[in-house]
Amino acid sequence: MQTYGYAAYSNDSPLAPFKFERRALRPNDVAMEILYCGVCHSDLHTARNDWGWSHYPIVPGHEIVGRVTGVGAGVTRHRVGDHVAVGCIVDSCMECDQCERGEEQLCRNGCTGTYAGRDRITQAPTQGGYSKHLVVREEFCLRVPDGLDLAKAAPLLCAGITTWSPLRTWKVGPGSRVAVIGLGGLGHMAVKLAVGLGADVTVLSRSKDKEADALALGAHRLLVSADAEAMRQAASGFDLIIDTVPVKHSLKPYLPLLDVDATLVLVGQIGPLDELSTVPLLFGRRRIAGSPIGGIRETQELLDFCAQKNILPDCEMIRMDQINAAFERMEKADVRYRFVIDMATLSAA
Ligand code: NAP
Ligand code: ZN
Repeated sequence: MQTYGYAAYSNDSPLAPFKFERRALRPNDVAMEILYCGVCHSDLHTARNDWGWSHYPIVPGHEIVGRVTGVGAGVTRHRVGDHVAVGCIVDSCMECDQCERGEEQLCRNGCTGTYAGRDRITQAPTQGGYSKHLVVREEFCLRVPDGLDLAKAAPLLCAGITTWSPLRTWKVGPGSRVAVIGLGGLGHMAVKLAVGLGADVTVLSRSKDKEADALALGAHRLLVSADAEAMRQAASGFDLIIDTVPVKHSLKPYLPLLDVDATLVLVGQIGPLDELSTVPLLFGRRRIAGSPIGGIRETQELLDFCAQKNILPDCEMIRMDQINAAFERMEKADVRYRFVIDMATLSAA
């Protein structure tokens, strides 16, 4: 099927219109018209080739909400007209122990990214959600629960699940003391979800600028990470710290904030950190971990949780032709707190 979208053509050119093919429906495929697509910092990293694995042209977008327009002959989970969602992965081997546990993001044979991946059958490059249509294997297509605002649900598919998964892995609940480094797309979802789970939540930000926002999102306080005295007073005060910073940075100021056996989980930056001493790790029995997105089952759990608790991201709706300006604002951390593209604006663009 011919479709169209917006693609990056190189690491230093603006995104621009792009025509391409979506595959014909396989028996286990769902076709959808995309209604909304969130703008993740990973889209920007990929367009700019910050991680060194981009191929061009590339259509970013992995926070996708759409309406089913067709199903393959063997599809049982979705019907034409259903509201569905797709996140960061569109396939995995479905045979290894991790896939069997519902942790497709950790597939032993490598899961397939919604963009910048390769189709497991044809090896064709996968293209993301800044586009009119998508064809996806039915198991990787999620149900949007009734009552969840379609226009705001998209960011749950990446910013939501990437912060939900560590909250669940480290069993956050009432009484847990959680800190979130960086109040952006991921960070603001981490705050809302941790609050929804009953935790005591602190935002660690670079300045006081976002303090009122942090409190409005439900956080109990904001600490300025450059304020040495405030950081000293917070020592050993957290069970889990979720670090969403997108660029190379130092963990030095944050490790002393972990309590004994507590964990700092990196979900933001990919690549080397600034040099680190093992002293706070050894003497406090503290841990550093990483976490990639989440599995399909856990993503469905998140969507259902958000529908039930009425938790939604704070979205700024944009038109497709505003994407380059949105990327520039994201680079300056000027997003409150997630851009979402109204895909109805794509045909005009
Ligand atoms: P974002 O909306 O741009 O937010 C990032 C936040 O980090 C900013 O709002 C800012 O918060 C802080 N920050 C930005 N630049 C910084 C700097 N130079 N030093 C310290 N803090 C800085 O980005 P996002 O969409 O949340 O994504 C965050 C990162 O997660 C990206 O690198 C993205 O690729 C990655 N990611 C990973 C996964 C995964 O599976 N693990 C999934 C999705 C995204 P303050 O202004 O409050 O300091
Ligand atoms: Zn993302």
